[in-house]
Amino acid sequence: MDAAEFRRRGKEMVDYVADYLENIEKRQVYPDVEPGYLRSMIPTEAPLEPELYEDVIKDVERVIMPGVTHWHSPYFYAYFPAATSFPAMLADMLCGAIGCIGFSWAASPACTELETVMLDWLGKMLQLPEDFIAGTHGHGGGVIQGTASEATLVALLAARCKAVRLAQASDPARTEAEIFSKLVAYTSDQAHSSVERAGLIGGVRMRKVPTDSKYAVKGETLKNMVEEDKKAGLIPFFFCATLGTTPSCAFDHITELGPICNANKIWMHIDAAYAGSAFICPEFRPLLNGVEFADSFNFNPHKWLLVNFDCSTLWVKKRSDIIGAFKMDPLYLKHENQESGLVTDYRHWQIPLGRRFRSLKMWFVFRLYGLTGLQAHIRKQVGLAKEFESLVKADKRFEICADVIMGLVCFRLQGSNELNKALLKKINDAKQIHLVPCQLSGSFVLRFAICARTTESRHVQEAWQHITQLTFELLQEPCH
Ligand code: PLP
Repeated sequence: MDAAEFRRRGKEMVDYVADYLENIEKRQVYPDVEPGYLRSMIPTEAPLEPELYEDVIKDVERVIMPGVTHWHSPYFYAYFPAATSFPAMLADMLCGAIGCIGFSWAASPACTELETVMLDWLGKMLQLPEDFIAGTHGHGGGVIQGTASEATLVALLAARCKAVRLAQASDPARTEAEIFSKLVAYTSDQAHSSVERAGLIGGVRMRKVPTDSKYAVKGETLKNMVEEDKKAGLIPFFFCATLGTTPSCAFDHITELGPICNANKIWMHIDAAYAGSAFICPEFRPLLNGVEFADSFNFNPHKWLLVNFDCSTLWVKKRSDIIGAFKMDPLYLKHENQESGLVTDYRHWQIPLGRRFRSLKMWFVFRLYGLTGLQAHIRKQVGLAKEFESLVKADKRFEICADVIMGLVCFRLQGSNELNKALLKKINDAKQIHLVPCQLSGSFVLRFAICARTTESRHVQEAWQHITQLTFELLQEPCH
């Protein structure tokens, strides 16, 4: 394909994408295919000779689309949202075209510098404490990671490194292996599985902190566990708080937890993967109070801030904490500006070496929506969740299972877990809308998350009508 053909095909592709997204609600939100469906639809070997573009594009509808779960359909209410917007998609095209691998400042100065400034822009939108803002002289700053899972792992590994240094400073005879065996990390029993996984990868024990009636961790509970572990000769070193838990969007009490972590030299990381985007709205910002006690803070603009996957933003108070943990400097990656103190080499802030020019997506989205446009998006989706909540509340057969604070509604039919499992199965088998469940206090609960940028009140009303129709049918069945 030469540039002339790329121009033509590119324009066609933009039309295809615009048509796909404009008409997405006409497609069934969840596919009908069975596991392994695709293998029989394409050859077993890559083609020896080039094929025609027309044939490839025809196969997108024949092979790919039948197996796509349409995350951007207004009938998709599962998991948490995956952000998308036209400005972010355009920026991603440009990112592909530039195609740099921005592991160091020298590898593409714009890639590094725009990222630092975008993380400052976003940090200011969230009113993060000054310590997290890089500016020109700051000791902290932000970085784009691929996912919240990576951000948590990076924070845990940095904390582990710091804890070892600290323990050896007070007793140089202690070996790294002996210290590792004593380290203990903590997180909520509602935390995302990626936090526990970070502990597994980091080779440290991870204790689950029980939550209160609102599914949030309280200061006192963590304090007791830390004291108990210290008495047993362990070294508490890391706590991952969650703001906006995956099952029910609960918020740990970080104003209580932060001082406990600081007093015990425990690194506090905040995982706000989904809810973090909402902190750009002044009415939600109080939920972030206590971030001043944190060592690191992360959320996913690729969930709720209109920046397409992947874009997970991580801020640290002391950049030296993460650079110290991951620094490797082979000759082939060195450059003459690196010791100047003026440049950031993001390869030291992450696990992979390579990195895409992801900040372009943020720059396009922030400029083309403005803060007010982004706030309007968050508020609209929270409003839709509230609308769904009032529909549920008005039907006495159902109950709301957790406070509706953002765009997630946890609800269930009053009755057994089996009944609710049967309802969810009916809903997902019908494939008109798509939901996933969660477990709250032993109950099987349905999660209704407002996901698509294009979800409107009529879709929510339609979804509720559909759910109540299926409930009616379910309750007619003899076994219920
Ligand atoms: N943390 C929380 C609270 C989440 O809700 C999720 C995903 O939904 C994650 C972490 C994992 O996110 P990622 O896919 O970016 O690793």
